[in-house]
Amino acid sequence: MFEKILIANRGEIALRVLRACRELGIRTVAVHSEADTEAKYVKLADESVCIGPAASAKSYLNIPAIISAAEVTDAEAIHPGYGFLSENADFAERVEQSGFAFIGPRAETIRLMGDKVSAKDAMREAGVPCVPGSDGALPDDPKEIVRIAKQIGYPVIIKAAGGGGGRGMRVVHTQAALLNAVTTTRAEAGAAFGNPVVYMEKYLENPRHVEIQVLADEHGNAIHLGERDCSMQRRHQKVIEEAPAPGIDRKVIAKIGERCAEACRKIGYRGAGTFEFLFENGEFYFIEMNTRVQVEHPVTELITGVDIVQAQVRIAGGEKLWLKQKDIVFRGHAVECRINAEDPFKFTPCPGRISNWHMPGGPGIRVDSHAYNGYTVPQHYDSMIGKLIAYGDTRDQAIRRMRIALSEMVIEGIKSNIRLHQNLMLDGGFVGGGTSIHYLEQKLATQAPDVKDR
Ligand code: ADP
Repeated sequence: MFEKILIANRGEIALRVLRACRELGIRTVAVHSEADTEAKYVKLADESVCIGPAASAKSYLNIPAIISAAEVTDAEAIHPGYGFLSENADFAERVEQSGFAFIGPRAETIRLMGDKVSAKDAMREAGVPCVPGSDGALPDDPKEIVRIAKQIGYPVIIKAAGGGGGRGMRVVHTQAALLNAVTTTRAEAGAAFGNPVVYMEKYLENPRHVEIQVLADEHGNAIHLGERDCSMQRRHQKVIEEAPAPGIDRKVIAKIGERCAEACRKIGYRGAGTFEFLFENGEFYFIEMNTRVQVEHPVTELITGVDIVQAQVRIAGGEKLWLKQKDIVFRGHAVECRINAEDPFKFTPCPGRISNWHMPGGPGIRVDSHAYNGYTVPQHYDSMIGKLIAYGDTRDQAIRRMRIALSEMVIEGIKSNIRLHQNLMLDGGFVGGGTSIHYLEQKLATQAPDVKDR
């Protein structure tokens, strides 16, 4: 096992990785930008290195600075967290070429899954069900594009092979709009992702977002840890996640989970990963794979008892998977609310100094956050300042505990989205379970204007 790990990230996930390392008896190096020098989790690490100014491009995305920090501190492995460089194949390659272990899949796997066209090809080959579509990049010939769209049936969605973060997509409802949409998406994709390749999929009108968590070692073993429902989204950003997904037959989950584990064995996947699916009319349709730990991993940890971050570290250390599929027992229900420093109605970010920070507790409550009384939320990064997770024997109990926890939670000095979560925990659609990915935006759009303007 490693003796020292460098954490190439910030905020709550840096603290989460730090805690996992401590429990495993591994020393930690925190790297940080000038904006995060005073953060407490930086001080909790055994060592810390400033890697550049506040702007991410010059710090958390600065590959040479991060590698140098690993060199000067004699770290043996680098954990990339999520976001930033976590899905950057060049970074993974540079880390390994410099003699460090990358806590994640091999660079070529990240590259394969980072291109959505090659990822879909690989998944189709591995027997994972995909959204019906163009089976590869769209050709140049307009007649051929029209033919493919007709075959799939409108509405269709044009997606950039190199797209990410919900960008580089365009829905097309009629043939009249098709060719223009393809041209525009290609141009935008070329400019934004340096890759003009686009492909076409059937546009699913009312799906849920259900994803499968996997763990695989480098010895050819792979298991799944069940599913998470992340349908409560705004602008393709997840707001609430839960496990298990309400109302889906366990046999259906076991089947798709095994398909994903099998795909991992086939492509030689290593580490923790997530297969994202759209779920509609009882069917799963693969959309993409995330080759890293996810923000929402705690809900899976709570219902399986598996520490996913520790698993990542142990797998990167070369350990053979110590769990078999039959060892994974799903128990109870967990719900996660992402706590953001933002206006709860207008969603504008609200960085600044937290003058009062009081976190809830009690049975079944977990708070993953790096914030504290007097902490200043920097303006330079994502607005998520923590995650509140509630566990219960049943979904109903988890939701009730979440309501109580939200009522105890105090964040003052900055705005937060606690009120939004309080509303959603009482919302009939959410409480009923199984809402689609459009539910939250539709609900927000129909809210009374006075509520929106508050
Ligand atoms: P990204 O990598 O940018 O997150 P995804 O392929 O995961 O892109 O898609 C992001 C979101 O876009 C999905 O969660 C879903 O809301 C929507 N989406 C993508 N493909 C489809 C599709 N074929 N039908 C309907 N919605 C889609």
